[in-house]
Amino acid sequence: MAAPRDQLGVLEAQGSSGRQGSWGVKVAFPSDPAAPAPLCPHGPTLLFVKVIQGKEETRRFYACSACRDRKECNFFQWEDEKLSEARLAAREAHNRRCLPPVSRVQCVDRYLKFIELPLTQRKFCQRCQQLLLPGDWEKHREHEVLGDISVSQLKRPSQLLYPLENKKTNAQYLFADRSCQFLVDLLSTLGFRRVLCVGTPRLHELIRLTASGDKKSNIKSLLLDIDFRYSQFYLEDSFCHYNMFNHHFFDGKAALEVCRAFLQEDKGEGVIMVTDPPFGGLVEPLAVTFKKLIAMWKEGQSQDDKELPIFWIFPYFFESRICQFFPSFAMLDYQVDYDNHALYKHGKTGRKQSPVRIFTNIPPSKIILPTEEGYRFCPLCQRYVSTENQHCEHCNSCSSKDGRKWNHCFLCKKCVKPSWIHCSTCNHCTVPDHSCEGPKDGCFICGELGHKRSNCPNIPASRRANKAVRKQKQRKSNKMKMETTKGQSMNHTSVTTRKKRRERTHQYLCS
Ligand code: SAH
Ligand code: ZN
Ligand code: ZN
Ligand code: ZN
Ligand code: ZN
Repeated sequence: MAAPRDQLGVLEAQGSSGRQGSWGVKVAFPSDPAAPAPLCPHGPTLLFVKVIQGKEETRRFYACSACRDRKECNFFQWEDEKLSEARLAAREAHNRRCLPPVSRVQCVDRYLKFIELPLTQRKFCQRCQQLLLPGDWEKHREHEVLGDISVSQLKRPSQLLYPLENKKTNAQYLFADRSCQFLVDLLSTLGFRRVLCVGTPRLHELIRLTASGDKKSNIKSLLLDIDFRYSQFYLEDSFCHYNMFNHHFFDGKAALEVCRAFLQEDKGEGVIMVTDPPFGGLVEPLAVTFKKLIAMWKEGQSQDDKELPIFWIFPYFFESRICQFFPSFAMLDYQVDYDNHALYKHGKTGRKQSPVRIFTNIPPSKIILPTEEGYRFCPLCQRYVSTENQHCEHCNSCSSKDGRKWNHCFLCKKCVKPSWIHCSTCNHCTVPDHSCEGPKDGCFICGELGHKRSNCPNIPASRRANKAVRKQKQRKSNKMKMETTKGQSMNHTSVTTRKKRRERTHQYLCS
């Protein structure tokens, strides 16, 4: 099953088109903006509100900003809940225990020692994902250990470390070489001298490799990422342990200052932010964070009217969501390919074309896409587009979003996917085999409003339980086939909702 990487995201995308109700959770604003959010090991938590059939529930709760899996971080607190001193103390102790085993400073220290070792003593434990100093060898004797770690291996940590793709927290999908090289070349052509890499470890390393190998292009890069394993390979000035869902620097003020200095260098000239967040994350907290980074850059700026250049890499079906927060952003036709993602590879090599695009506030006319990969320049749109993306004279644009030729619907007054038909009941274009009332609000089994399948009185409880077990098994095996980054809501929603979402999402993406 071609489950997409993110499900909530699609729902967000659907919801924003106004055609469907909304499900799941939303980020909420605290009733008292001065009240600080409680802390989990990943920094300040976010306030969420459950949304059922478009209606917000009244009781809101705090949960982890970064982890969409309760197994990773099970923080939960009602907004109006008062905690005892004992529970607060226990929570603080828990947060302390979750700190990385080595501090950032120790990490740098270890790295400096490591690079002085002769090649034969440079080992890396694959099980612990850790560079080993001679004093560590004994502890890892029984583990699979790689030896003779060369300087070029040290410069490519994204190849040494395994991608944390199975984690709903990291959703680490690394750029394919072709896309990564395209980005580096593009950044250099556009004249950038500094790149703030937010959740783009492979881009970070390729920029640094290119800079050290080539005197002409001397671009500096700073990586902000939640994956602490990367801190073993970089000094303080090129990596900060960071949570992009709450703008939290795990190493406090010192790390924040590194980021500030990087953004404000040369009065903020020549810097760009490039980010490729987990698609399962909600757009809103990301937008809030990026606005904070923009503000940090602006403090060091003299001209008011300028914007921090940004590349936000995300699936095309988030276009309206992203543009809601950043109206100046345009979506490029370039399809971003990934290495460890069978479905998200380029049309010609992968099974499916990648739905991932670049959103940017740089004028698209300045961004040349490679003709050898199937892009052409549209003189009317003044931008590069996919070859099959034909200019529609009615829309007055190259209207396809997914690289295929779309058809214009005169009733909808826009271009739509080639497989869609205009449904006069729904009054818009959609997949041919849909149910016209849209998503059913009531029970999946008996159709009654007022309860969900899991509580359907027409099914005996025992069957319900069995079903839940089966579902869980099935979910596990789906997970094996392709790890999906479920929406932030997945922690908190019922199996029924999930199943329905999966179906709708499937329909949405595979049509
Ligand atoms: N395509 C990119 C990687 C994108 S995968 C590349 O090849 O460079 C998403 C990245 O975001 C991963 O590196 C992951 O560790 C990081 N990430 C996930 N959640 C994060 C969070 N809450 N804060 C910061 N980084 C996060
Ligand atoms: Zn957490
Ligand atoms: Zn080990
Ligand atoms: Zn059209
Ligand atoms: Zn139509």
